[in-house]
Amino acid sequence: MGTSLQKRECASCGLPFETQFCPNCGERRLTEKDYSAFSLVNDFVVDVFNIENKFWRTLKYFLIKPATYVDEYIKGARKKFISPIKLFLLANAWYFLFPAINTFKTSWTTQLGGLPYSSLTLDFLTKFQISTGLSASDFALLYNDATAVISKLFVIIQPLLFGLLTYLLYYRRRTEKPLIHHFNHSLVFYAFLLLIGVSIAPATYSLIGIVLESEAMKDFRTEVNVTIFIFLILNIFGFFLYKKFFAEKWTKVVWKVLVLNLLFAPLLQIYRFILLWITLGWIWLTV
Ligand SMILES: [Zn+2]
Repeated sequence: MGTSLQKRECASCGLPFETQFCPNCGERRLTEKDYSAFSLVNDFVVDVFNIENKFWRTLKYFLIKPATYVDEYIKGARKKFISPIKLFLLANAWYFLFPAINTFKTSWTTQLGGLPYSSLTLDFLTKFQISTGLSASDFALLYNDATAVISKLFVIIQPLLFGLLTYLLYYRRRTEKPLIHHFNHSLVFYAFLLLIGVSIAPATYSLIGIVLESEAMKDFRTEVNVTIFIFLILNIFGFFLYKKFFAEKWTKVVWKVLVLNLLFAPLLQIYRFILLWITLGWIWLTV
């Protein structure tokens, strides 16, 4: 196809070529049709639907064949799929707008006395509160408002920590599975957590409760329910996402899955600890 075309310079990168698409940058050679008035409509439709095709295809693979999506993306299918980081940021934006449960937010009261590191930070936190000149209750209000927003903006810290963790678990295979591959998987993993785990799934459950007028179902949000639910669906999704990537003897996989489950909660504590300092920094800069 296209060998009989006249040699022309590429309009985008300047390389002379004789085929239909520029071998250097992929630019398409224009034809007679592109100079008709109708091409205005056509260009628009093609642009819009190409983006949408890529997005919907990614979303479909993400939900049905997540391993195939990440695997093909890693191998170079950049025209077929949007990147895991983009998917994650979209999921994060969705979660920012429609959070059904805000598990990541940690109130000032919890930071002061309810976390494993609280006894170490209590002194400093109390001094910090006093230094702002605000009363304890006013400071708590200010802190809680700020951290509610910041906790949703900085979720990305969690997939980075989780990716680092799976990388360390598979450290012996680091040449074959470099850190970036682990990040691409963990970003998809957390995109699922944000989009389904803490947004669509609990919201759907509450909605069904309202439709069925079941008081018990309406109130899903007890700590224990949420935790069990999130662990359950993350393990199911994680199984399909990591199955191929972690391909090993099943005994090895089982203990690694156990480690990941056990360390998932401590990772959240590390996140809360980082969040504390980001929120204090923000307050320090603005008050
Ligand atoms: Zn070109």
